[in-house]
Amino acid sequence: QEQIEPDPAKKTLVILGSGWGSVALLKKLDTENYNVVVISPRNFFLFTPLLPSCPTGTVEHRSIMEPLRHIIRHKKASVKFYEAEATKIDNERRVIVINDLSDVKGDVHQTEVPFDYLVVGVGAENATFGIPGVREHACFLKEINDAHKIRKTVMDCIETAMFKNQTQEEKERLLHMVVVGGGPTGVEFAAELQDFFEDDLKKWIPDIADDFHVTLVEALPNVLPMFSKTLIEYTEQTFKDEKISVRTKTMVKNVTDKHIEAEVTYPDGKKELQKIPYGCLVWATGNAVRPVVRDLMSQLPQQKNSRRGLAVNEYLVVDGTDGVWALGDCSATKYAPTAQVASQQGAFLARLFNSMARTQALESELIHLEELSAKTKVQEDRESLEREIQKKGKAIRRVKTLSPFEYSHQGSLAYIGMERAVADITWFNGNLASGGSLTYLFWRSAYLSMCFSTRNRVLVFMDWVKVKVFGRDVSRE
Ligand code: FAD
Ligand code: NAD
Repeated sequence: QEQIEPDPAKKTLVILGSGWGSVALLKKLDTENYNVVVISPRNFFLFTPLLPSCPTGTVEHRSIMEPLRHIIRHKKASVKFYEAEATKIDNERRVIVINDLSDVKGDVHQTEVPFDYLVVGVGAENATFGIPGVREHACFLKEINDAHKIRKTVMDCIETAMFKNQTQEEKERLLHMVVVGGGPTGVEFAAELQDFFEDDLKKWIPDIADDFHVTLVEALPNVLPMFSKTLIEYTEQTFKDEKISVRTKTMVKNVTDKHIEAEVTYPDGKKELQKIPYGCLVWATGNAVRPVVRDLMSQLPQQKNSRRGLAVNEYLVVDGTDGVWALGDCSATKYAPTAQVASQQGAFLARLFNSMARTQALESELIHLEELSAKTKVQEDRESLEREIQKKGKAIRRVKTLSPFEYSHQGSLAYIGMERAVADITWFNGNLASGGSLTYLFWRSAYLSMCFSTRNRVLVFMDWVKVKVFGRDVSRE
């Protein structure tokens, strides 16, 4: 880590975000080639695949967080990190406006960061589709604070339901846990919550046993649309066995502090608006574009037809820009917004930046050799320089031929409760669909091996052992 101040001879590469995409880029980037600046409102990487296990305490939140400072300290050249939110990307002036969001404010809490190259990896925010009441009353499940909030709300609901003289109707409402969105986030969290109830809550608070109830609400005819039909059926049957109610063809239209209002479509096509009381509401209906990304899109006429995020070319360059790349959930590509895609895009961009730097170095060596060759009068020296020049030219062509980004799908995995999981795995160019307890062991080992660091791996493993031996904690956060 020799470089402290920005080196004027190097380009400044700014990376926004500390999620799957940006951290995968950072991990493989040769930082000595650029003045690297990372900007993110959170100073850690979060292993989202195990986030649904956090609110119930199956996994402790610190076990799936990796401090960004650990990651950047291990790089060859120093990397600057600012814990801040990018509020504006000014493409024309090539600066980013950043805001310090922390509770402790210094004299300066808003400033600008200039860039030569920019990678936008700010992810997405929670989609609410403008449904009234969602932001005010629901919990989300995207960040670590969301997991804390859900945990607190679930335990509050339980203890409030146990309050002296609580009516039966109110008790049932408070103990009704509603999860909206039958994608993998909603399914995995509903499963984890039901496990928590069956394994621990029922044992320590037996008075809730008859009334605690988890419902999963989904607008489409089935849950987990990205999985194969057999696995969808297997998941729905497992949920039935676990006594989780699955209400498909039920679209939430309005949310109040105690009810959701949903439009139910019956098999004969008739529709009915139903009021469903809830104690805790978890909203998991997918992704929406962040304001800073929407603002950048509005600066670029080439982005006017893009809806899901920044339209990029096959090298992840943002359409309508020069020197701005986007990856992960904030970009709009033909791939699903998953960690797998984001991390492969991050690794691709690291290769691209490393090869750009190598090309520039070779090109300046080439110019130097050409100048020497022009000056030299000795025939022998000139011939040797010519050979060197040809070699450099070949090396440049080799480095420059980086093929476009191509995603390699490893498969989809989801936990569905009762120590069962479903997996659609790509296997020797074919597909392997499996569900059950063996798949659960596979799910656990796959997620363990995917954890960011050995430290994370050991912590997660110890959390699982702890829960097996002592059960989950039932105290409120
Ligand atoms: P993120 O990982 O979300 O990172 C975005 C980063 O940008 C964060 O550091 C954030 O703090 C930062 N940021 C936000 N706003 C700004 C701003 N204005 N300025 C600067 N920085 C900003 N995918 C899978 O493939 N497998 C799974 O099992 C899986 N499980 C999931 C479980 C849950 C509960 C969730 C929510 C998602 C899951 N996903 C999974 C999806 C996966 O997490 C995302 O696709 C992935 O995180 C996208 O990576 P990203 O780098 O684009 O964004
Ligand atoms: P999603 O977009 O996959 O699913 C959201 C679901 O909410 C959809 O099925 C949609 O029909 C439903 N919905 C939307 N509005 C509704 C309404 N008003 N009422 C009822 N239902 C409504 O969202 P997600 O589960 O948060 O996943 C986001 C991304 O992260 C996806 O790409 C997913 O693949 C990925 N992810 C993967 C895993 C995994 O692989 N295990 C886990 C979590 C997330």
